[in-house]
Parts: sequence; C-alpha cells; structure tokens
Amino acid sequence: ARSLSKVLQLTLAVIKPDAVAHPLMLEALHQRILDNNFVIVRRKDLAWTREDSQRFYCEHSGRFFYQRLVEFMSSGPMRAYILAREDAIRHWRELMGPTKVFRARYTSPASIRGQFGLTDTRNTTHGSDSVESAQREIDFFFPDFCAEEWMKKEEPSFR
Ligand code: ADP
Ligand code: MG
Repeated sequence: ARSLSKVLQLTLAVIKPDAVAHPLMLEALHQRILDNNFVIVRRKDLAWTREDSQRFYCEHSGRFFYQRLVEFMSSGPMRAYILAREDAIRHWRELMGPTKVFRARYTSPASIRGQFGLTDTRNTTHGSDSVESAQREIDFFFPDFCAEEWMKKEEPSFR
C-alpha cells in the first residue's frame, strides 16, 4: 500500500486584507481550513509594505492590475498559514475557487471566492500554484521555517 507520507504536501495560504477586515469572514475561513483536513503547520498575522507586495507579485509586474494588486495587498493586515495535507496545493486552490469573482460566483458558488470574493483583485485568499511556488512563498512568509526538519519530526504522525 502507498503510504500517505508519499503525498503529504505543504502549501502557503493567505487570507487577504479584504477578508481579514471582516472578523466573521476571517473566522469562517479559519474554520474552513480545519473542516477540510488541513493541518495548520504555522500561522502568522502580518502586514506588508508596498515593497513586500511588489516583490511577492513581481511575476505580475506589467499586468494592468499590478498597481491595484500591490496597493490592495499592502492596505491592511493579513494572515498567512503553512498548511499540510495530501495534495495540499491542489486541494487549497480548489477550495479557493477561480481567481475572477464572476467566474467564481457562477462556476464554483460554494468555493471561498465564490462566496466571499468582492472583485477580481479583492478575492479573499491566496494559494500557491505549484510545488516550486509553495517553497518560494513559504520561505517568503516564514524565512525561519525548515520544511525538511518539519517533515522529519511530524510526518510519521501522518502515517
Ligand atoms: P491566483 O491568486 O488565483 O493565483 P493570479 O496569480 O493570476 O491568481 O493573480 C494574483 C492576484 O492578482 C489574484 O489573486 C488577484 O488578487 C489579482 N488579479 C489577478 N487577475 C486579475 C484581474 N484580471 N483583475 C484584477 N485583479 C487580478
Ligand atoms: Mg497565483
């Protein structure tokens, strides 16, 4: 039998400023994480400067929405999580729903963005989209976190 540890994966999830500004939304999203069998590995409340925001989203520099994205993500507090589960990256992205609010509302009304998204920019949550971006983004938010060390210590309890 294939052991669960083979597919245990980490991802970076962020509750964006629009959702943190709403205590009930923040609570609902936290509960949603727990209800979907994610293990919360780390959790941090923080706020970005414009420079943090530009650096994190540099892949989008030049896109028409870049300035508004940078402003929005440095507009107030947010909450970051390292989440663990089998296939965590895909599961969290599925739970979030599509990027754009119209699409989210109509194609995935039960998703987080479908339920809570305000606009294409103010769309409640972020999630890593690949193993490479998860590593980069976990490091961006949690520079002291060592994935190898965590896996060595905690992974046996997931078997
Ligand atoms: P995702 O967050 O789903 O991975 P992207 O990586 O494509 O989406 O974009 C990063 C963020 O930029 C989105 O979550 C959203 O806040 C914003 N954004 C993306 N596309 C648009 C758009 N067409 N109009 C406005 N804002 C956008
Ligand atoms: Mg993305």
